[in-house]
Amino acid sequence: MNSPSRATAPTCHEPPIDRRAPLDTLLSRLDKPRQPSPGRWIARCPAHADKAPSLSIRELDDGRILVHCFAGCPVSDVLAAVGLEFADLYPERPTDRANPERRPFPAEDVLRAIYRETLIVAAAAGFLLEGRALSEADRGRLGMALERIQAAVAYSGVDRHG
Ligand SMILES: [Zn+2]
Repeated sequence: MNSPSRATAPTCHEPPIDRRAPLDTLLSRLDKPRQPSPGRWIARCPAHADKAPSLSIRELDDGRILVHCFAGCPVSDVLAAVGLEFADLYPERPTDRANPERRPFPAEDVLRAIYRETLIVAAAAGFLLEGRALSEADRGRLGMALERIQAAVAYSGVDRHG
């Protein structure tokens, strides 16, 4: 089948974006989104020739929407393909000031960031185990890695109850 099934580039015929329901707008412009569990959807990515559903959409408690293409498309490309912008992922309801501590980053992004930094730490540890000295630059980078890991732990909120 070679009829283009996905939504074409945005045109002036697109219905106006309902800023109170950005998720509905997004889902309506994707190809057959499925909802495997509450607050989660998967669909074919509109930004690349997607045979399997590679696009993951999640709605956070505060109404924000996370979009991720597992094939690696930048979120900006995915949004552009359906005529949306980053601002459309944020509902226009007043922010919940009572809960400013809501986790700002999905766990998988935090894990990925920590993973990169642990490689630095592991490399440095390998040097030290071999009895070699770290250069000034390596020591600086190691210090940065440790700071980033601590920051990631703080962002994730996993240390809050322990
Ligand atoms: Zn994609």
